[in-house]
Amino acid sequence: MRAEDVKDDLVNVLFTEEQIHGKLAEMAKQIEADYEGKDLLIVGVLKGAAMVMADMARSFTRHVDMDWMAVASYGSGTKSSGVVRIIKDLDIDIHGRHVLIIDEIIDTGLTLSWLTSSLRARGAESVEIATLLRKPDALQMPVDPKYVGWDIPNDFVVGYGLDYREKYRNLRDIGTLAPHIYS
Ligand code: 5GP
Ligand code: MG
Ligand code: MG
Repeated sequence: MRAEDVKDDLVNVLFTEEQIHGKLAEMAKQIEADYEGKDLLIVGVLKGAAMVMADMARSFTRHVDMDWMAVASYGSGTKSSGVVRIIKDLDIDIHGRHVLIIDEIIDTGLTLSWLTSSLRARGAESVEIATLLRKPDALQMPVDPKYVGWDIPNDFVVGYGLDYREKYRNLRDIGTLAPHIYS
């Protein structure tokens, strides 16, 4: 669905589908250049990064291996629970591999700070992060993504994989959720 299909639920549209695709293509190009001559494994963090993974992976003009993890750090609402646990682990052994974690948003940084150390401890050759969005004002843990699409204000956003109570993931664009939806 498009932003106009849920326009009463959104305060604004931050990024249109077209802008998102443009940004991902740019990021993919940079990543390709940086990992030239190296085997690359991209790891998507379910469920939010599903759309970013799908579109970014297809922007590459080379092979990349793809795997997925599911971790939980959030409750069903808009606040972090402060707890990270693995719901689904990697299928691929990452020992000696160049791993690039793909995520849709860094908020407190709790999830990715934990995930990065966890994957490094498994003996990966390198572990870096690519995220479409980042909220610099919300950061609580030291996370230093190598690739960032856009920095955004500290508001709750939905669309393009980002949910509110499992809704809005299939929205093509990214928008700020209207407070009347969650208050
Ligand atoms: P963290 O706080 O650990 O950096 O973010 C963990 C997860 O919380 C993100 O991967 C995402 O699923 C969710 N999250 C953080 N900020 C937002 C937001 O503004 N909107 C939505 N829908 N999810 C968010
Ligand atoms: Mg995520
Ligand atoms: Mg969520």
